[in-house]
Amino acid sequence: MKQFRNNVIRAGLGALYFSGAHYLLRPIFAGVGAIFMLHHVRPNRGAEFQPNRHLEVTPEFLRAMLTHLRSLGIDIISMDEVHQRLIERDFSRRFACFSLDDGYRDNRDFALPVMREFAAPFTMFVTSDFAEGTGRLWWIALETVIAQACSIEAEIGGVAVRLDTSTPAAKQVAFDRLHDWLRGLPGDHDIHREIGALCARHGVDEAAICRELCMSWDELKPFADDHLISIGAHSITHCNLARQTEEVASQEMAVSRARIEGALQRPVVHLAYPYGDKIAAGPREFMLARAAGFKTAVTTRPGMIFPESAEHLTALPRVSLNGNYQDVRILPVLTSGAATAMWNGFRRVDAA
Ligand SMILES: [Zn+2]
Repeated sequence: MKQFRNNVIRAGLGALYFSGAHYLLRPIFAGVGAIFMLHHVRPNRGAEFQPNRHLEVTPEFLRAMLTHLRSLGIDIISMDEVHQRLIERDFSRRFACFSLDDGYRDNRDFALPVMREFAAPFTMFVTSDFAEGTGRLWWIALETVIAQACSIEAEIGGVAVRLDTSTPAAKQVAFDRLHDWLRGLPGDHDIHREIGALCARHGVDEAAICRELCMSWDELKPFADDHLISIGAHSITHCNLARQTEEVASQEMAVSRARIEGALQRPVVHLAYPYGDKIAAGPREFMLARAAGFKTAVTTRPGMIFPESAEHLTALPRVSLNGNYQDVRILPVLTSGAATAMWNGFRRVDAA
């Protein structure tokens, strides 16, 4: 199903490119700017089974995007400046803003050198438990378990199932099934219980994943000192905020912010909602982020920034640089806004 969805999106992006429709759509849907969303930036690993590949782009693809933006004369600005331009209604120049979620070490090792080539600022949204070394990146734990297992036993909806994971194709099918099941569980503790059990059965050290991939506070300190970088909050535990009580959800926002400010000795005024889609961030979370004093908060809802986004500063959409579509021909489609406009049924703002 996921493959089918990917193929449809790829065909749609391709159709937009080859028809030239993105040029016609640009004046209407390009908006005033875009906030790009990235996760990992690192060289291609070449493995056949990479179910989280949509969450990583290569340094070369990032460089291609920056080159493309510069060639269009688009300003590359920080989240602070996005906020500034929105509240001052300063839309004389189109802008792009780069945001990298979670706090991965490869952002320092591979993204930062490329961003420096273009003197381009960016924001890293840090999950405080990841920096603490105690976070649980369950989607990567799931990948790790499936990568090394030949078959997996699980109890899905009260029914014991045995999933074949002996080939890359079978691994992908099993990953999709388990991933959808886990994300559909009622609480984050349910996901962690099931993943914990899977890791234990298959000898995967789940705790090591966080320390291996994410920057510690000690690493974040010098990183955050770079004048190109600003640090935002991405919750304490990377939970689905919409599924928490109001009290817990606001704590996740406020405490992660306080921890980052304490550790890095700098103000944190921007937030990214974990997962950030409609089932993880809605009107209640937008209100809580505002109440917590964040200047902006970004979702993973796809969309460009329009002047009217200024009325919804804690519900800003982003444009994903998706690792499954690292084709330079897609770049003008992404910056035209045509792809996200199609996705949104041609609504400009989606904050409900
Ligand atoms: Zn995240």
